[in-house]
Amino acid sequence: MNTPRTTQAWQALDAAHHLHPFSDAHSLNQLGSRVVVRGEGVRIWDSEGQCIIDGMAGLWCVNLGYGRKELAEAAYQQMLELPFYNTFFKTTHPPVIELSALLAELTPPQFNHVFLTNSGSESNDTVIRMARHFWAAQGQPQKKTLISRINAYHGSTIGGASLGGMSYMHAQGDLPIPGIVHIEQPYWYVNGGELSPEEYGLKAARALEAKILELGAENVAAFIGEPIQGAGGVIIPPSTYWPEIQRICREHDILLISDEVICGFGRTGRWFGCEYFGFAPDLMPIAKGLSSGYQPIGGVMVGDRVAQVLMNSGDFNHGMTYSGHPVAAAVAAANLKILRDEGIVDRVRDDTGPYLQKKWQDAFADHPHLDDVRGVGFLAAFTWVKDKSRRELFANPGEIGTICRDIFFKNNLIMRAVGDSMVSAPPLVMTRTEIDEMIALAVR
Ligand code: PLP
Repeated sequence: MNTPRTTQAWQALDAAHHLHPFSDAHSLNQLGSRVVVRGEGVRIWDSEGQCIIDGMAGLWCVNLGYGRKELAEAAYQQMLELPFYNTFFKTTHPPVIELSALLAELTPPQFNHVFLTNSGSESNDTVIRMARHFWAAQGQPQKKTLISRINAYHGSTIGGASLGGMSYMHAQGDLPIPGIVHIEQPYWYVNGGELSPEEYGLKAARALEAKILELGAENVAAFIGEPIQGAGGVIIPPSTYWPEIQRICREHDILLISDEVICGFGRTGRWFGCEYFGFAPDLMPIAKGLSSGYQPIGGVMVGDRVAQVLMNSGDFNHGMTYSGHPVAAAVAAANLKILRDEGIVDRVRDDTGPYLQKKWQDAFADHPHLDDVRGVGFLAAFTWVKDKSRRELFANPGEIGTICRDIFFKNNLIMRAVGDSMVSAPPLVMTRTEIDEMIALAVR
């Protein structure tokens, strides 16, 4: 148990010793972080006893909501039984076997193997090495460039941030690493001009083909994309985009990687984002909803084509001490069974997802500056625009950050500002009544 302290004491200790990720310590410590002490369902509580609706499911990950005793029980039992053992050296253990089999059951049919990691970033570092190893093992070591997209987010490690297309992340640490290039993101509202979304979707996808031809397909290992860009602002590609990307990858013999770290495990109302858009990737990084954030765990689903080569080419010299950690694996398996057995993904697809999207549409239909109200399942976003009729953005979208801060500190609702957009991704268990409550707080 933590030592009880006043909020001021927590904040002072935090400011003295804790460096927060993705934060400007100076301004953070002036404002004082809210100290979050407890969670239940779709709500969290701070150290002042204030109840906050979590419209972001933590960081797009607490799919089951807070306070599920089954997951605590799974961790407790596993810690008593076997708190740790590795799977490197001719050993394995029941939780990792159970989880791997469950993932093979729940993922699309081409996936029968998983490589386990501790996070989405590690999963994306893994796909860089795996994709390059796949081609090298077949006598094509030069086929190693990975193509990603501007404004993509694939994590914060050197590899993940290099795959990502965030220029502010590249600016720190001399990124991207060699052999990773970026093409345009499929953002119709901003880049579509006079084209229809469907026409633009094809055009954006063909930027991949142009890049492959420029580099030579014999030098390109893979294309990676999030089915819907999450941290880039919930950018939903037109329906024509992913089928065309798949065609291009197949035609030029390039591996297709669907980063399902946010979209996976029900966020779109399908188990995986690639199922929502109807494409079949070769590799699929996963994390977040895999354990609903109750334990740090990630992985890469490896399609049969890649798995066959990997399994027949000697050692794959890659892995982390905690790859397939028994406690994390036991919690992830318990989480997946609840998601499956309680029909939570289907409920998002058929009931609460469409309800949520309609409510957001109604809430902002007449707003003078919020436009491109968009969403799928339990992902949604709205863009802060200067002129709706011309789809013109503000030069400085700082206002949206202020709005999100006010919603958080004054209305006790968590939303996030991302570039020009305000985004929302609540726990998948949110009910219709809770959706009404959340939206009332967002528009208040
Ligand atoms: N990939 C995507 C699509 C993500 O959204 C994220 C995190 O938000 C990551 C990878 C990195 O995951 P992690 O933060 O667990 O390293």
